[in-house]
Amino acid sequence: MKYSAEFRDPALARGLLAAIAETVAGYRGKMTLMEVCGTHTMAIYQHGIRALLPEGIRLISGPGCPVCVTPVGYVDHAIALARLPGTIVATFGDMVRVPGSSSTLLREKALGADVRIVYSPLDALTIAEHNRQQTVVFLGVGFETTAPTVAGSILEARRRGLDNYLVLAAHKTMPTPMAALASDPELQVDGYLCPAHVSAVIGANAYLPLAKKHRVPCVVTGFEPLDVLQGVLMLARQVVTGEARVENQYSRYVKPDGNPRARAILDEVFAPCDARWRGIGEISGSGLKIRTAFAYFDAARQLCVTVEEPVEHGGCLCGEILKGKVRPKECPLFRTVCTPEDPVGACMVSSEGTCAAEYKYGC
Ligand code: SF4
Repeated sequence: MKYSAEFRDPALARGLLAAIAETVAGYRGKMTLMEVCGTHTMAIYQHGIRALLPEGIRLISGPGCPVCVTPVGYVDHAIALARLPGTIVATFGDMVRVPGSSSTLLREKALGADVRIVYSPLDALTIAEHNRQQTVVFLGVGFETTAPTVAGSILEARRRGLDNYLVLAAHKTMPTPMAALASDPELQVDGYLCPAHVSAVIGANAYLPLAKKHRVPCVVTGFEPLDVLQGVLMLARQVVTGEARVENQYSRYVKPDGNPRARAILDEVFAPCDARWRGIGEISGSGLKIRTAFAYFDAARQLCVTVEEPVEHGGCLCGEILKGKVRPKECPLFRTVCTPEDPVGACMVSSEGTCAAEYKYGC
């Protein structure tokens, strides 16, 4: 607990809560603050932060869980690839249980497909090196946090001369969806707790256009309870005074310009593209595609498969949950039909999903 206990000090937490209460005391109405990071979502549930905040603040979860925002069509594509003879699909663990239109990667594995869980794209490279007669497809999902490592794996595959390593890329980028939600007339977001890991790569300055154009305060915030409370306090102060600035609560890790090395690797391998988000739909310029120079490593270009027409589960409200419009408990399937053991939607599968967090910790 060394180095994290300092960020869980109850006396300091009480002080921050008192400052938050004092800040919003004279504020008319209720302010809505959205966290856009699955790790924030888990921290907020795990430490019961929502229940500690004054009436005048409503915390909602946004599209920050990488597995959750991956659309069902991508899962179907991965399943179609897993069914190809001579193909090994390598993926982070959460993805194997995300329901596609008619199956999951876990079910395909049980039926004989070679689907392997890895902890890093470099593990997938090792599998490719040891299985030169087969094609290894790594499922590249997630935000700028994971995308540099996937880009690095492609550069490393080229360096090692691995011609049997491919990536099915569906990376998403911030802060474009935050701008989309900020202009949603049904959703009044008064401030954003900006994602910490993503910001370590893209930098706090990446939110300047969002704050300026949409007049929405942004605070890059860490994951410990005191980080979150301080981030809420900084946002609340801006909302009350009518400001819309970018502040960096997590300055011990996040720099104004992020991580130049990681961004350079990203830029070398990936190019911006339009991307489909579960529940939100297509957002212009919110994804990353593999550049033509690296097309040899692009599973979408190299492997031709028939992918079924995507079908979302009729009763699942993941899309609305990812936009912060409903809470998991408002979904009629929550805890009844949909559980972590038998998830109906991605938000119940992922360890960073809002439904999984509410199931585990309640509110
Ligand atoms: Fe979807 Fe299950 Fe969450 Fe309902 S509880 S929104 S079915 S993941």
